[in-house]
Amino acid sequence: GGKCGKANGIMKEFEEKCRTPAAKLKLVADAMTVEMHAGLASEGGSKLKMIISYVDNLPTGDEKGTYYALDLGGTNFRVLRVHLGGKGVGLINQEFAEVSIPPHLMTGTSDALFDYIAAELAKFVSQESEEFKLSPGRQRELGFTFSFPVMQTSINTGTLVRWTKGFSIDEMVGRDVVEELSRAMAKQGLDMSVSALVNDTVGTLAGGRYTNKDVVAAVILGTGSNAAYVERAQAIPKWHGVPSKSGEMIFEKMISGMYLGEIVRRVVLRMAQEAAFFGDTVPPKLEVPFALRTPDMSAMHHDTSSDLKVVETKLKDILEISSTSLSMRKTIVELCNIVATRGARLAAAGILGVLKKMGRDAAKDGDKQKTVIAMDGGLYEHYAEYSKCLENTLEELLGEELFKNIVISHSNDGSGIGAALLAASHSKYL
Ligand code: ADP
Ligand code: MG
Repeated sequence: GGKCGKANGIMKEFEEKCRTPAAKLKLVADAMTVEMHAGLASEGGSKLKMIISYVDNLPTGDEKGTYYALDLGGTNFRVLRVHLGGKGVGLINQEFAEVSIPPHLMTGTSDALFDYIAAELAKFVSQESEEFKLSPGRQRELGFTFSFPVMQTSINTGTLVRWTKGFSIDEMVGRDVVEELSRAMAKQGLDMSVSALVNDTVGTLAGGRYTNKDVVAAVILGTGSNAAYVERAQAIPKWHGVPSKSGEMIFEKMISGMYLGEIVRRVVLRMAQEAAFFGDTVPPKLEVPFALRTPDMSAMHHDTSSDLKVVETKLKDILEISSTSLSMRKTIVELCNIVATRGARLAAAGILGVLKKMGRDAAKDGDKQKTVIAMDGGLYEHYAEYSKCLENTLEELLGEELFKNIVISHSNDGSGIGAALLAASHSKYL
């Protein structure tokens, strides 16, 4: 009938707007390469932030000793301890603890947040086993993964530009996050220094490189999405600091977060309002921003039951929409597919942009050099349809032959271990 036709019309219009043919994605990748150049040329030269990481020493595998890491980037934080055996030995042992951040600390004071973190860290340090104790007189060293926008001023200093992901502690903005952490650690009587301040992408790059020399870029698809890659120091006109020993510098580019579940909700809401998709009234829960989370969207998208039971349950439990027909549920799954496909294909275009900037998108004579991209993040890890589509799209864009040299490798918790490795490769005792 008419109502069904109208909902279909909204779907078709939306699908059309989400179309990402290969030709368009190639333009996106080219535009991104251009913006990356501009972002490297001058501060504020592009809306694409090209943030200097100050990491000019990626782990080699020869690092030795006990190092710590603290990974703060969402609602949980993790503390880690790694034992590195040195050349030819590698990672001997890793231990970690995960602690959730009480919501009131995300919007309270800087002291309250860092005192809490430092206390948990001190607890973790106190469980250090005898066998891995540091030699007397040597201070423990920590890599700090802080996945918020930071204007870095050295490998272990940087000021918070703004909070994201639900945090808002205004007094922290503009302050050095390492100083805040160090002060809190001292208050706890914890003898530890911060050797490296890194973003999760940079940590993942370091973690990936430690186990595979061919890792040259890292991409995080989690709550937000961003990437880091190794750039030649000469290719960074805005870099006026001391020349780096290795001649390389790692850069990070940030893309705004993709709120897939929220996009789905908005389209369904429009279908409810304009096409009476759920009958005469609009389900109130459907009007709540961010009511539909991406993991729920992904669960619906992956529903393989013939009657789409998961979709039915999710709609009932989350949006309080009961009595849905199979055809309505099919429409919802199709919508999830449109939104996920668009996101994954654009992410692939972004990766192609980075590959182009690194000159790894074209065949060189007899070049069998592998390019490995370390990937991590909850979206990539858990949304199978999304990651599958991303990889297929990259192959479509590069072509089968070139794609053979590209390896996308899941770097499980690279950001935490990577930060500890960077603490080792930037140790003050070297
Ligand atoms: P971050 O460190 O950026 O906070 P994570 O890497 O921990 O993010 O990933 C968390 C994000 O991953 C969630 O915000 C969610 O969007 C996504 N996610 C988690 N689980 C799933 C899932 N099962 N399906 C799809 N997306 C998921
Ligand atoms: Mg993270």
